[in-house]
Amino acid sequence: MGSSSVLLFSTAIRRLEGKVSLITGGASGIGESTARLFAKHGAKVIIADIQDDFGHSVTKDINDSSSACASYVHCDVTKEEDVENAVNTAISKYGRLDIMFNNAGITGVNKTNILDLNKSEFDQVINVNLAGAFLGTKHASRVMIPACRGGSIITTASVSGCVAGLASHAYTASKHAVVGLTRSTAVELGGYGIRVNCVSPYVVATPLAKKFYELDDEGMSRFYSNANLKGATLEPQDVAEAALYLASDESKYMSGHNLVVDGGFTMKERRVA
Ligand code: NAD
Repeated sequence: MGSSSVLLFSTAIRRLEGKVSLITGGASGIGESTARLFAKHGAKVIIADIQDDFGHSVTKDINDSSSACASYVHCDVTKEEDVENAVNTAISKYGRLDIMFNNAGITGVNKTNILDLNKSEFDQVINVNLAGAFLGTKHASRVMIPACRGGSIITTASVSGCVAGLASHAYTASKHAVVGLTRSTAVELGGYGIRVNCVSPYVVATPLAKKFYELDDEGMSRFYSNANLKGATLEPQDVAEAALYLASDESKYMSGHNLVVDGGFTMKERRVA
């Protein structure tokens, strides 16, 4: 087979054909990239976010650009009724839910000193990053368990769920906690054939990271020169590809796993002198 036929063959494979997915934080960054990729791979996509304008615009773009099928629903992941409604939208519109991507997240304030961090600032990050993932996992399970078709639940954690010192205590604690939530729920939900995994990216140039570190594109690129893997940068699309793997049947025996996408950053030896 020539190289052009190999290319044609590989781009024609739709790895999520017939599946229905719900993506929180799907209006921007990693979630947006994942929504576009899942749609390209044949999944019906529901984008759930609080940025309604961006969410509607990404949804329209997906629907205009291909035979894909996307919908938008307003959903604040800290509100149980919103998450419940988003999951119910998957059922009412498409009859099923196969993939839940708990991706919505915030960094909160850039304070590294515990004495400066207010309880309300701490709570805000925990509510979105941890309670949001809990609610998404709970309500996805509510419909996946009785459907008896299994399912894939994925949460965006972070390298801040593996190591400390890159963000505030609240963010680091929230991301360590979602890794724990992933492992804990994977044990229970495995009994229903439902896989639960998380993906942990290094710094990605999205609005969230640029705002938190107050960096332009050039500033962002300095993160990559400090990372382990030389000559490469981490794009939202790279994290979307990891989520696609966890969503697809190609990872059918993976559960309770934290898929770290960091170019080896968290493996790097930390020298003391
Ligand atoms: P982003 O700001 O581009 O996207 C985050 C999305 O989440 C936004 O559309 C935002 O409106 C939405 N959101 C925020 N609060 C919400 C709420 N209460 N309910 C519903 N939606 C809400 O940022 P991103 O970098 O794409 O972040 C996606 C995920 O990736 C987050 O969980 C983040 O912690 C994680 N992450 C990001 C990086 C990075 O460097 N960008 C690294 C590791 C992990």
